[in-house]
Amino acid sequence: MKIKNLIILIGPPGSGKGTQGKLLAPLLNYNYLSMGSTLREHAKWDSKIKKMIDAGKIIPDDMIRKIVNETISDMPQAKGLILDGFPRDIAQAIVLDEAIFKYKVDKVVGIFLDVPKSSVMGRLKKRKGKEARADDHPEVIETRFLEYDQKTHPLVAYFEKHHKLVHINGDQPAEDVHAEILKRIFHASIRL
Ligand code: AMP
Repeated sequence: MKIKNLIILIGPPGSGKGTQGKLLAPLLNYNYLSMGSTLREHAKWDSKIKKMIDAGKIIPDDMIRKIVNETISDMPQAKGLILDGFPRDIAQAIVLDEAIFKYKVDKVVGIFLDVPKSSVMGRLKKRKGKEARADDHPEVIETRFLEYDQKTHPLVAYFEKHHKLVHINGDQPAEDVHAEILKRIFHASIRL
């Protein structure tokens, strides 16, 4: 299988990666992979994964590598793929680089949804009532932020160095973030 274009959503917990991914995928006719949702499915029968998600911890890379490869190879052929929640650390960025080679990806664009912690905290508290995610408890949210700061945020610099990264102000209504993403990906003369 070949993946022509790859869009990677990076941002802190609650920054709107899922919302934006689900808006973009049908519009561009791309496949969409939410690593968090995929892992929540696996957690139904895999207690090790469930424990780590419920604690707000990042699942070890050896398990992620297998799941990512299986999930991508099960996808229907499409013009592109949107990745939400993968890679989550530098080791996974190397797994991603292997996939870029394996699937002969032409264009890679990282989108960094920049939202201050104070705003995302408010969003996650609201979501707690609506979506009932076990990991939206205040203490678990703190762990997820720690994981993000220590492991995921360094990807911003990594992407700037190795790929292309577009910074988006994620601290605005979802439809405005969506419009800004569209504008930026087309303006960056990235033929998607
Ligand atoms: P999310 O839905 O993106 O907020 O992810 C929810 C949880 O799934 C995270 O807190 C992690 O426990 C786990 N998770 C999601 N993506 C990854 C990944 N790429 N690597 C390891 N763990 C992940």
